[in-house]
Amino acid sequence: MAVPTSIVWFRQDLRVKDNPALNAASSLGNIIPVYIEDTTLPASRVPGGVSKWWLHHSLTALNQRLNDHLIILRGDPKSLLPELMDTLAIDHVFWNRCYEPWAISRDKAIKQTLRDKGKAAKSFNGSLLWEPWDIENKSGAPYKVFTPFYRKGCLQAAEPRYPQAPPARITYADIDSNEQFLTIDQLNYLPAIKWYDGIANTWQPGEEGAAARLATFIEDAATEYKTNRDFPAIPGTSMLSAHLHAGEISPHQIWYAIKGAFGDNENKGIDTFLSELGWREFAHHLIYHFPDFPDKNFNQKFDSFPWRFDQSDFDKWKTGHTGVPIVDAGMRELWHTGFMHNRVRMIVGSFLVKNLLMDWRKGEAWFWDCLADADLANNTAGWQWIAGSGADASPYFRVFNPILQGEKFDKDGNYVTKWCPELKHLPAKYIHKPWEASQPLLRESGITLGEQYPKPMVDLKATRERALAAFGEIKGQ
Ligand SMILES: Cc1cc2nc3c(=O)[nH]c(=O)nc-3n(C[C@H](O)[C@H](O)[C@H](O)COP(=O)(O)OP(=O)(O)OC[C@H]3O[C@@H](n4cnc5c(N)ncnc54)[C@H](O)[C@@H]3O)c2cc1C
Repeated sequence: MAVPTSIVWFRQDLRVKDNPALNAASSLGNIIPVYIEDTTLPASRVPGGVSKWWLHHSLTALNQRLNDHLIILRGDPKSLLPELMDTLAIDHVFWNRCYEPWAISRDKAIKQTLRDKGKAAKSFNGSLLWEPWDIENKSGAPYKVFTPFYRKGCLQAAEPRYPQAPPARITYADIDSNEQFLTIDQLNYLPAIKWYDGIANTWQPGEEGAAARLATFIEDAATEYKTNRDFPAIPGTSMLSAHLHAGEISPHQIWYAIKGAFGDNENKGIDTFLSELGWREFAHHLIYHFPDFPDKNFNQKFDSFPWRFDQSDFDKWKTGHTGVPIVDAGMRELWHTGFMHNRVRMIVGSFLVKNLLMDWRKGEAWFWDCLADADLANNTAGWQWIAGSGADASPYFRVFNPILQGEKFDKDGNYVTKWCPELKHLPAKYIHKPWEASQPLLRESGITLGEQYPKPMVDLKATRERALAAFGEIKGQ
């Protein structure tokens, strides 16, 4: 009797360990692993430049783990997948769920088409600790505030499932090549101009790189996480977000590795870290229950907010030439490495939305293009939080003061001078406000403001007042 064969459709689960879809398919018989570049994504949601770079390497690593058996396709999965199953006479496809609104409707449509043909599609939870529909408040509605969501919803619900061992053996179906099959190179995810050296030096995409990051974090940083996580010059956080987004590691693996290493001993550093995974769950809860969340203000009062836009101001922000050192350092870190420390994301975000009064969607789009961890749920939740328009958002009157933030979280200026080396001869006292240094001191430090380093593009105090007035207006509506 022929061995049953199933397709495993890899999406945001580019790993072999703790992959429920791969396990289910492997236990049934032979598998055909498939990755599809979905050409039907909304234009603004096609992966950005850095995400594509990441995908190229992550797919390469996955293909190696699968002994070169990964089939690559490009097109509309709604037709491609059923066609491929017909051509190969296959009755089953397995995948792990994605939670982007378009992915949910696409996957539902595929399930229906296959059901109509008498075929089966089975989906699994590969990337969230708690399914969004399993967590609800007392009245059966989705949560809109993080703390009760996490403490009363998640932590009181069933424990997350344990990570699954990888299949003991994967057997691959023998299939003929087909002119639709592409190589990873043919996806053209690497840019023609090689701008990614800094990114390549920072990351090792793939399952091995993810496991190495987790091991380093547990070994070197986890117990001090609560103390160090806000200081961008210290390697105090896990740097797992991009690996999580690509699904090279599951949150279940992280959750239980941390609990395994430190136990349930109420170590606050550990609890704080686990609750950050909770923020990731919350963001996914929000996009699942409120599919407009990525594009529209969660708080509709913000629909009439008087955003302003000026291309040249926006370019200064994007390239790290605002003249406000910690903002510039963050934007340059992003450009060079595809990453920005969370504290600094909040500072640059507040500067864009509040001091420059630009629509949070502008910042979200730039992050989408530049972040290695660009993720619809986390990115839109982060930006709506900053703008004050989101669920459980930062209050509108909270305008981050980039000088005070810098002085508090980068006291010696090590982070700023790493990315803005032109400021490195300034005494620490002036690193976050070079415009307050005297002319002779500036000269001694090799700086003329407006030449080696820009003058601040805005008056921080006046723009703060302007923001408060604008936010105050919509609050009163
Ligand atoms: C404006 C803005 C935009 C952001 N965009 C993204 C994004 O596109 N993708 C993304 O993964 N994160 C985003 N974040 C959240 C956060 O900045 C990153 O997850 C974090 O900096 C990643 O570094 P880490 O892995 O070292 O985090 P750690 O501090 O080690 O945290 C562990 C994990 O928890 C999750 N996490 C931590 N903080 C948050 C948070 N605030 N919201 C959701 N999940 C969180 C991440 O998966 C992270 O890897 C954004 C935050 C802001 C303020």
